[in-house]
Amino acid sequence: MKEVLYGVEKVGRILTGHRPTGPRHLGHLVGTLNTWARLQDEYDCFFLVADLHVLTTDYTHPQRIRENILAVLLDWLGAGLDPERSTFVLQSAVPEHAELSVLLAMLVTVARAARNPTYKEQVRELGLSPSVGLLAYPVLQAADILVYKADAVPVGQDQLPHLEITREIARAFNRLYGTTFPEPQPILSAVPRLAGTDGRTMHTSYGNTIPLSADPEEIERKVLAMVTDPARVHPSDRGHPEVCLAFAYHHAFNAGAVAAVEERCRRGEIGCVPCKRGLAQVLAERLQPFRRAREEWQGREGELWELLHVGSRRARALARATLAEVRTKMGLVSWERRD
Ligand code: SF4
Repeated sequence: MKEVLYGVEKVGRILTGHRPTGPRHLGHLVGTLNTWARLQDEYDCFFLVADLHVLTTDYTHPQRIRENILAVLLDWLGAGLDPERSTFVLQSAVPEHAELSVLLAMLVTVARAARNPTYKEQVRELGLSPSVGLLAYPVLQAADILVYKADAVPVGQDQLPHLEITREIARAFNRLYGTTFPEPQPILSAVPRLAGTDGRTMHTSYGNTIPLSADPEEIERKVLAMVTDPARVHPSDRGHPEVCLAFAYHHAFNAGAVAAVEERCRRGEIGCVPCKRGLAQVLAERLQPFRRAREEWQGREGELWELLHVGSRRARALARATLAEVRTKMGLVSWERRD
């Protein structure tokens, strides 16, 4: 059913978010932020700053979380996520996320949680004994989505298994206690993943990302270091853009000129340095809103927190209603809360 929010008819509710692990980079822009900004026109969007999720892998550096939350917020604002039209939520400010997660955990076997591909990957990467918190990560993720009865979740192909656990939990709950949660549908992103500037998987810890807040000098330095077609020695050599990383970036960010770049490269009419300088310029222009957001919000930290606080309050009202329903259906006593 369509709902009217902020004066606009919406087709459903979306929950999505980022872990506040630091400033966002080009991979986030291509993979999520561009899509989220568009979805705001159609959906009632809840954008979650998932600070509890950070603790599942990095509970030893609590001092970083606050500054990373602000960095994420600034990049969201730069990307056009609009707190006037959408709801920005701080996960830990809505304790119902954690409460629902505990309740839903009763419906998930340890074996099922351990089959989660992210869990396996994290265990491999961390090389540590995984915590119960990490094992329960997908259940908390399910609670994040179900606590707002979200209809849809924007995901990449590789994130489908995560959403499937949420859908399984929703089905199990509905079967046991009566229809309560919608089974959230994936909104699949067709955008291919962008490799890091060194050609490896893009990851902040590899130092191969371009932050959205990067200035033109940093952008140019990183772009000029990108690997290109190794068969090209002279600018007049015929190139093979399909093996060139800089070309993949042209594809992602320079759609209007990508055909011309390809043609000139194949004919040996452009050298790699000017080609990459052109790309750096396009990226510098594309990232200007992110630098502007930082300038605009400079020294207004209190207002940023307020913005998150207001969104979290609105979210909490919905979350409480869901929890009241869940608690009753699961046979728990509910006294009215005054806080
Ligand atoms: S000319 Fe451009 S697209 Fe062609 S190999 Fe060099 S950097 Fe890549």
